Amino acid sequence: MKKVLHFIDGNFVEASNGEFYDNFDPATGKVIAQVARGTNEDIDAAVEAASDAMDNEWGSMKINDRIALLYALADEIDSRFDEFLEAETLDTGKPYTIARHIDIPRGAANFKVFADTMKSVADEAYQMDTPDGGTAMNYSRRYPKGVIAVITPWNLPLLLMTWKVGPALACGNTVVVKPAENTPTTTALLGEVMNKVGIPKGVFNVVQGFGSEVGDRLTSHPKVDAVTFTGSTPTGKRIMQSASLDLKHLSLELGGKNPGIVFADCDMDKAIKETVRSVFANSGQVCLGTERVYVERPIFDEFVEKLKIAGKNIKLGVQHDESSDMGPLISKDHQEKVLSYYKMAKDLGANVVLGGGSPKMDGDLAEGYWIDPTIWTGLPEDSPIVKDEIFGPCCHIAPFDTEEEVIQLANDTQYGLAATVFSENLTKAHRVAGKIDAGIVWVNSWFLRDLRTPFGGMKKSGIGREGGHHSLEFYTELKNICIKM
Ligand code: NAD
Repeated sequence: MKKVLHFIDGNFVEASNGEFYDNFDPATGKVIAQVARGTNEDIDAAVEAASDAMDNEWGSMKINDRIALLYALADEIDSRFDEFLEAETLDTGKPYTIARHIDIPRGAANFKVFADTMKSVADEAYQMDTPDGGTAMNYSRRYPKGVIAVITPWNLPLLLMTWKVGPALACGNTVVVKPAENTPTTTALLGEVMNKVGIPKGVFNVVQGFGSEVGDRLTSHPKVDAVTFTGSTPTGKRIMQSASLDLKHLSLELGGKNPGIVFADCDMDKAIKETVRSVFANSGQVCLGTERVYVERPIFDEFVEKLKIAGKNIKLGVQHDESSDMGPLISKDHQEKVLSYYKMAKDLGANVVLGGGSPKMDGDLAEGYWIDPTIWTGLPEDSPIVKDEIFGPCCHIAPFDTEEEVIQLANDTQYGLAATVFSENLTKAHRVAGKIDAGIVWVNSWFLRDLRTPFGGMKKSGIGREGGHHSLEFYTELKNICIKM
């Protein structure tokens, strides 16, 4: 049986107590690996290694040498592309057709993007008059924060991890990563890549295991200088409490219940094509995905019918089948959670337009965590189906009559991560986009990402922004030095 270990101070090691837990293939429900079950002692060892590396070679490395290493990391991931692809798709169950275009290339590109950002960062300088008639010069420079705790979810494991590790290292920090328990493998593989390209020992550390068991230790450790987290809102709150004991800096990228707004003057084909992606991509396990669609009444029936046809055409299948559009959900627990919402929708009297259960799969796949692409209409706005983040391949579609009404509906949520607006009237699209409470609004598209742009959520979808130079705000300390001339 494959074993997935911690990576501490440049070495692959077992948990301090020798314990492992089973990891499962979401497509079959079979055990695929045993994973080191992290302990507080493992966290301590990883943080010590990260802290020592900060005090030694890494802390004094010239910026150009650091940037060259980040480029080498991206190139090495690219050269082991198939290995990363296999590992990521086995842990998550997502098809090659998705991971080949998004997870692995973006997972590698994050290192280059932030190396480039760091290369072009400018320092501020201000000359001032002094009370004694002289002058002084102020200049502000960015310094690494120190040891960064990086905690990541399972939906886009490599991509979301390097989205944080890339800028953290580019800015000269060291990291301790705690990947999600179900998706440990690509983070561990990155340890091999670090050693291969010559990243000094202790710069990148990984502790596998359960957040409920090691999370508090990591997020409150006195030698951790900042915590960056992507995951659910309840866990974000818990981390904020734990990190507040030591007043640690925090970046939180949390959940969403994202609205899609479709005006009658949209390009219908475009709206359907993008909404199919935003609802069903990655089996609906995308924080930016749409779970509430509001359609202007004159085109409501046509839109529902067309989305139903497109949803029906989604082909469920195993990761290496090149014709698969959608894989299973990540875990049995998550399947049970999503199915409980499917049942609730029926109990509450929803009109089930498509799906609504789990498909019967044959042979090896019978025990996998498969789920139907699902569409509902007819539920009131205060229903949990419309309010809660379900994180499955499903959406509720409701009609609206006016622009004011749909803005109010879209904003009537505790979340504020993303939204889509479909209209060929760009004046209206600008106006509506400006009124939606969300960190990202896409007009006539979805998931078009320029990595230089700010990324993050309003309200309970997060705190802070990462991306491009916004990441520098979090991963560096800005120091002003004032020199009396
Ligand atoms: P989760 O919150 O259950 O777990 C995320 C990570 O936190 C895992 O590594 C987990 O082990 C760890 N964790 C759990 N308890 C912890 C604790 N007490 N202290 C420290 N760490 C702890 O989330 P998930 O189910 O893995 O991911 C799905 C969620 O992530 C969804 O809500 C989704 O919207 C969100 N998400 C947000 C973004 C974004 O950018 N805003 C991106 C992807 C996913």
